[in-house]
Amino acid sequence: MRLNGFKRKSKMAIKSEYRSSYCGNVTPNNVGQKVTVAGWVHRRRDHGGVIFIDLRDHTGIVQLVFNPTTYPALDHAHTLRSEFVISVVGTVTKRSDATINKNMATGEIEIVADSLTVINKSLPLPFNVADEDENISEELRLTYRYLDLRTSRMQDTLRLRHNMIHVMRNYLHELEFCDIETPILSKSTPGGARDYLVPSRLNPGKFYALPQSPQIYKQLLMVGGMNKYYQIARCFRDEALRADRQPEFTQLDIEMAFTDEKNVREVIEGLMAALWEKFFGKKLALPLNVFEYKDVYDKYGSDKPDLRFDLPIQNITTLFESTTLKFLQSTLKNGGQIGALCIKDYAFSRAELESWVSRTIKEFGGSGMLYIRFDEDGKPNSPVASFLPEDFLTQAQKVVPGITAKDTLFIVAGDYNKSWLTLGKLRTNLGHELKLIDKSQDHLFWVTRFPLFEYDEETKNWVSCHHPFTSPEVGSDLSKPGGITARSYDLVWNGYEIGGGSIRIHDDKIQEQMFTLLGIGKEEAEQKFGFLLNAFKLGCPPHGGIALGIDRLIMMFAKISNIRDTIAFPKNQSGICMMMEAPTPVEAQQLRDLQIRSTYVAPEEK
Ligand code: ASP
Repeated sequence: MRLNGFKRKSKMAIKSEYRSSYCGNVTPNNVGQKVTVAGWVHRRRDHGGVIFIDLRDHTGIVQLVFNPTTYPALDHAHTLRSEFVISVVGTVTKRSDATINKNMATGEIEIVADSLTVINKSLPLPFNVADEDENISEELRLTYRYLDLRTSRMQDTLRLRHNMIHVMRNYLHELEFCDIETPILSKSTPGGARDYLVPSRLNPGKFYALPQSPQIYKQLLMVGGMNKYYQIARCFRDEALRADRQPEFTQLDIEMAFTDEKNVREVIEGLMAALWEKFFGKKLALPLNVFEYKDVYDKYGSDKPDLRFDLPIQNITTLFESTTLKFLQSTLKNGGQIGALCIKDYAFSRAELESWVSRTIKEFGGSGMLYIRFDEDGKPNSPVASFLPEDFLTQAQKVVPGITAKDTLFIVAGDYNKSWLTLGKLRTNLGHELKLIDKSQDHLFWVTRFPLFEYDEETKNWVSCHHPFTSPEVGSDLSKPGGITARSYDLVWNGYEIGGGSIRIHDDKIQEQMFTLLGIGKEEAEQKFGFLLNAFKLGCPPHGGIALGIDRLIMMFAKISNIRDTIAFPKNQSGICMMMEAPTPVEAQQLRDLQIRSTYVAPEEK
């Protein structure tokens, strides 16, 4: 399906020395008119005496015909090659019925050329722009990104991106949000991801940090009485890159004063409905469902489950209360839990089952996985079958609703949080690989009331699940960090977190307490966040907000799976811009100016 946002045709009238019409705008209504078009040679067909050129610009393609009657200098037209930039004057002519091309928007007409200007030539290309060949390596595409941008795939996606951002801006403007820019040269603060640092030449030995998000600025804008803020903000995080992550990315950043959770949800739901209507041509049913984190985690082992398929986690701990299986006995003794996924009526082969076991260990963080497949007669078939009672299926039916012969249980046991996380990953992968997902559906919903903190076993510290400015639920007992829920919310769509935010702390005492709990001492808090704590003492309104990941949102609307394809000039998976070859070493003098000495030694020099 072509999304509405992909539409190419232009409504603009244009006139310059190079063109009087865009290629895609020439229609049968122009038959008989003289037009000038300009663009790139998309394809060339040389029929000896007559040359056909498909000319491309950002609006589409139009066919040009060079024949000796109207264009005697045919030799000149013979020199045209792919991606030459040309401007052509000619007469719009209706094609004969036999040559009409129904697959082309301008397929009913052609332009019979009577003059040709070659504006610029092109060397043979590293890959053919016209072919849209999916086998061209991404490395080559990113190295020649400016050529890749000429493909209709990239033209369409970037136009969709522009159109979506336009809808966002219009919607927020109507709601009296104010677009305010915040600094890119910012301050390094503890917590969160690693910062990208920028040395300050004027302040030797000191560094700016690129903002991981405009979080503190947007809160200070609320203290500054700005009421409703938004920004299409660039954020920078120096963290491990994954397929759907970029070191710099764009988010729709929002903050509101005197707000609450419901208020924030309503603003975002209205925005999503506007995008839905414009780009899917459908109404989004509102309000969206709101789930609590603990319920979602219990059922799906994830805080962003894909609900386009069922397959909930079943807690089957009681089924093994009197088991003779040693490892399950010890799980139960240690207060662990046993969870299972029940895959209905699927004839797994032995090799498939073993492969799921090994993937559970290697990819999904489990220490093991036990499968029990029920044969047609209901007998359990499993490496541990001899330890299971004869009537195991009947017993299982008491805890797993609907389980019957020919179903399979995938079982993971151990610490609740860890096992459920493994089961969640297993569930997602089963969903994709057993084709359980109904791709015609969309599931967009909220997850709220996350824990405020999680305990980091490695550093033996409490860390914020969201960020340190998130407000605890009203009346929380801060002396028991483990049990506190946050006033936070995530927006989840088909298994992706597309946004998240919270109601913030606006009381300096609570904010100070938060820093202490996070292991940020009084002195460090003063040094790193003194400006914020001061601001909170000088009349701070209650406030809250959210940020939506724009790159990911475009990916979801465009229904593509590579986040780099939503960005004009992305970095590769090692954070490198293949086109410019950034980052690079710099001149020794540049480092001297900054009073920086690099200790790095390239491996081959060691
Ligand atoms: N600053 C947060 C983030 O980037 C979003 C928010 O709390 O508004 O994830």
